[in-house]
Amino acid sequence: MSTYNIVVVGAGVTGLTTALLLSKTPANKVTVIAKHMPGDYDIEYASPWAGASYMPFGKKGSDHAEWERATWPALRDLAEHQPESGIHFQDITIHNRLKDQNTATGQWSAELTSANPWFKDFVLNFQNLPRDQLPPGIDNAQRFTSVCINTAIYLPWLVSQCMKNGCVFKRAVLKHISEAAETHHSGKKANVVVNCTGLASRTLGGVADDQVYPVRGQIMIVRNDPGSMTSISGSDDGGDEVSYIFPRAAGGGTVIGGTYQKNNWDPLPDPNFANRIMQRALKLDPRLVKEGQGVEGLDIVRHGVGLRPARTDGPRIEKDQVDGVKVVHNYGHGGFGYQVSFSCAEKAVGLVNEIIQQQHDRAKL
Ligand code: FAD
Repeated sequence: MSTYNIVVVGAGVTGLTTALLLSKTPANKVTVIAKHMPGDYDIEYASPWAGASYMPFGKKGSDHAEWERATWPALRDLAEHQPESGIHFQDITIHNRLKDQNTATGQWSAELTSANPWFKDFVLNFQNLPRDQLPPGIDNAQRFTSVCINTAIYLPWLVSQCMKNGCVFKRAVLKHISEAAETHHSGKKANVVVNCTGLASRTLGGVADDQVYPVRGQIMIVRNDPGSMTSISGSDDGGDEVSYIFPRAAGGGTVIGGTYQKNNWDPLPDPNFANRIMQRALKLDPRLVKEGQGVEGLDIVRHGVGLRPARTDGPRIEKDQVDGVKVVHNYGHGGFGYQVSFSCAEKAVGLVNEIIQQQHDRAKL
């Protein structure tokens, strides 16, 4: 049997999901190399900081929307049949204020907060809240059953699933994407390199994609559990400040956020933002604390900042050749990397297969 040596660069949700799908084919021998691995918390590593929930943002009819639609069955299946992955079902209520529509957060969530969203027919238990149940200042709201992912369990779980299929994990820091071809665990040159380096694709040699930019998200993890997820289109604190509350599976605490700050690279939690995040969270869902309590009722596990790896034209999933090395890119998933993870990985795997097929056909000539 022919075997194919594949190096996946990056061990965030994108690289791990791509490695997992590649490794389901026994002929594929997959090495995952990364500067950061699950267990690390670093400003250069977005995946651990995510909420992470399934809240579709893609514009109706776009590739983004299609990737979100196509990833839902996989996440739903994990929540239903493999709770050890750290994914559970959670109801979510999404509030919309029309006055947010021109802000960064309002535009980010425009599709999500529309009263008639494209995803309403396949998410579970979708309903628009009746007008008389809307909180003051809210123009419309919807509720459905989504999932929430405990990233501290899910990312290591993905590693384990990959290892079960024979993937080998190695730490390495690349200066140039073509170096990856020489890092396969067999010692032989890789047939294909898959670039899943997220925000680093902006500076990595051989990629240097200036469309990639950070969208800073400041969050806190608290021990309080309000029982379900809530989010809103914006806030009165600033056009790039928002509020969301995501209780994670399996004792992961509750993520409260947040900010949506384009081109802001600040890695440190800002105490002023943190204070406003707590105030807004209590307003959005008072069940977070006991009756009569204020922010002092929040039991903080940690503060955090993550940089969403956004890209002007949306995710880049395409074939490339860099210094003679065949590369497939899969990066630039902004604030939606989990909710498109399986479908984007599938697309990347399809491109890897095309390259391998071409190499195979050429070898036969
Ligand atoms: P990353 O997780 O950043 O991984 C990049 C990998 O590449 C790392 O392993 C890194 O070490 C490696 N790497 C980089 N450069 C090199 C190099 N030179 N050599 C070797 N290795 C290298 N998404 C959702 O779907 N739902 C949510 O609710 C959600 N909430 C979010 C909330 C916040 C606050 C943030 C910050 C993000 C959120 N996201 C959410 C977005 C999601 O986290 C990202 O889209 C996703 O994590 C991107 O994953 P990635 O694997 O592409 O990048």
